[in-house]
Amino acid sequence: MTDPNQIKCDPPITERRAQTLASIKAAAKRANRNADAVSLVAVSKVQPDARIKAMLDAGQTIFGENRVQEAQGRWGERFAQRREGLTLHLIGPLQTNKAEDAVTLFDVIETVDREKLVKALIKACDKAGRPMPRLYVQVNTGEEPQKAGIMPAELADFINLIRNTYNLNIEGLMCIPPVDEAAAPHFWFLRKLARDNGIEKLSMGMSGDFETAVELGATSVRVGSALFGERDYG
Ligand SMILES: *Cc1c(COP(=O)(O)O)cnc(C)c1O
Repeated sequence: MTDPNQIKCDPPITERRAQTLASIKAAAKRANRNADAVSLVAVSKVQPDARIKAMLDAGQTIFGENRVQEAQGRWGERFAQRREGLTLHLIGPLQTNKAEDAVTLFDVIETVDREKLVKALIKACDKAGRPMPRLYVQVNTGEEPQKAGIMPAELADFINLIRNTYNLNIEGLMCIPPVDEAAAPHFWFLRKLARDNGIEKLSMGMSGDFETAVELGATSVRVGSALFGERDYG
């Protein structure tokens, strides 16, 4: 068996990161946008430590994770000495029983999609003595039954509830378009929903479509395999 820490990445991480940043810049330019308005969230889930280290050494400071426990092992333990100065985004579904761990580890939670979770996050912050992370609402733009996220028709009421009943700010909206559909209409739709609801930030775009997302107004893109190489779930 190969030691996962020995996995080589070709082309190397520094090159992949430089290429991705250049692609973001070019896409922003095509849309007359300032590339500084777009953050690159490096999705580190499942990636071996050697690649994470290379990404940190390349100067990357924003990372995304989709499982609380896995992220704790990586950022709370193995890379704990390098945690300072990083911004960690939770981009996967959050169970209420993991809320305390989540508010302790993450700076941004992108997957708020139900009132029960909002209540759990408030309770968790109280208990852990932590500030509330920055919050995004995940929208199920494709209305897929198996997918997390609030249905578009319920979004306005949910945002009003969060703002008025719980007195919390929603920084942005996040979506994951259906795999078998063109992403652009979903990105358009998310942008419209954000405008309609007075929300500034848009987390949209992954390895296959982040340039389209930037052209359509993404303020952050979540890129995994294009940056790190393929994930090996083996
Ligand atoms: C894994 C994941 C990504 C990154 O996917 P790539 O295709 O590897 O870029 C982005 N967003 C979410 C929510 C993810 O779970």
